[in-house]
Amino acid sequence: MILLDQIQNELAVLDSKSLRRRRRHVESPSAPRVKVDGQAMLAFCSNDYLGLAAHPKIIAALQEGADLYGVGSGASHLISGHSRAHASLEDRLAEFVSPHLVDVRTLYFCTGYMANLAVLAGLAAVSGKETELFSESLNHASLIDGAKLSRAKLQVYPHGDVASLRAMLLASTAATKIVVSDSVFSMDGNLAPVPELLALCEEFNAWLVIDDAHGFGALGANGRGVLEHFDLHSPNIVYMGTLGKSAGVGGAFVAAHKDVIEWLVNKARPYIYTTAAPPALAHALLTSLDIIQGEEGQARRAHLQILITQLRRDLKLKRWTLMPSDTAVQPIVIGDNAESLQAAASLYEQGFWVPAIRPPTVPVGTARLRITLSAAHTAEDLALLIDAVNRLEV
Ligand SMILES: *Cc1c(COP(=O)(O)O)cnc(C)c1O
Repeated sequence: MILLDQIQNELAVLDSKSLRRRRRHVESPSAPRVKVDGQAMLAFCSNDYLGLAAHPKIIAALQEGADLYGVGSGASHLISGHSRAHASLEDRLAEFVSPHLVDVRTLYFCTGYMANLAVLAGLAAVSGKETELFSESLNHASLIDGAKLSRAKLQVYPHGDVASLRAMLLASTAATKIVVSDSVFSMDGNLAPVPELLALCEEFNAWLVIDDAHGFGALGANGRGVLEHFDLHSPNIVYMGTLGKSAGVGGAFVAAHKDVIEWLVNKARPYIYTTAAPPALAHALLTSLDIIQGEEGQARRAHLQILITQLRRDLKLKRWTLMPSDTAVQPIVIGDNAESLQAAASLYEQGFWVPAIRPPTVPVGTARLRITLSAAHTAEDLALLIDAVNRLEV
């Protein structure tokens, strides 16, 4: 039993540090009002920023997709799993981001996690050991894992520190240089200095891999994410957007020059050696894109902005700090793990579901409540939460 003893001891260590993770059971669609373990809750924790995850038109499109293509894809993309629905989605996504990228093609993945593994391992495969990766210190776990999978030489530059990155690029003699960053930091809500990163990449002939998981659909007048927000244009950009957050469905896509995509199709193992996502999801995503691009998407983004302003105006904190963020991710830093858990538990008892985020997801000593807003919240929903948080802190 010695093997299991080790695990039991380590689980006890997690408990002693207030680091044990538990899952709750959601019994209704993703929405502000959810049923969780039999209880009605007001949720501020999903990444469904536009409130599309239970949109009737997208549900109908998914049902239509199942009628047209069945349930499973049956195989990987390079065998027989690549359906007309996947191809149509990739074409639509390419058209959507085309104002910002040159000769663009896109590639649809089952998840953003896999897309990030594929991009970093795939780009590094061009020059093998002659590759150097420059990774922002607060990058998402999937980028960190992608960097490991790439086996490239890795340098981590401090959060938002363009000067340090410049010095690293200047010193590098690698044949292929790749700078990689989240656009919106998922646990902080702030934006990376993407225009400055891009200028450096152009100066040093490096790729800029941008993970726009929290920007795609939510940022930009038309929902084109960080590309539109900063009006970026460059052949050096390899863009990753996820489709399970603002787009409300699932999967992710990579957008880049058509030859980069062709290379990934041929070389990126996380793309090649996995069963293609159900085609019905791709079919449903066509409707999701229609909504994101259209008037309804604009109205949803505008409402989200109003909620962000309301939260930042009306929250009155004493010891805790609301992080500087203009996005739907609005974290309150508490610091201590146990105090953060207590705050989340107290809110939960009052019917508000806000997750406590602890290390290793965030740096030690910066445990926090991570409030996420959705266009599906009403101003009244948010006022209830603000009042509860204001009364919580002692
Ligand atoms: C959610 C997320 C991912 C992973 O995307 P999935 O589609 O959920 O696998 C990647 N990067 C960032 C920054 C994310 O927040």
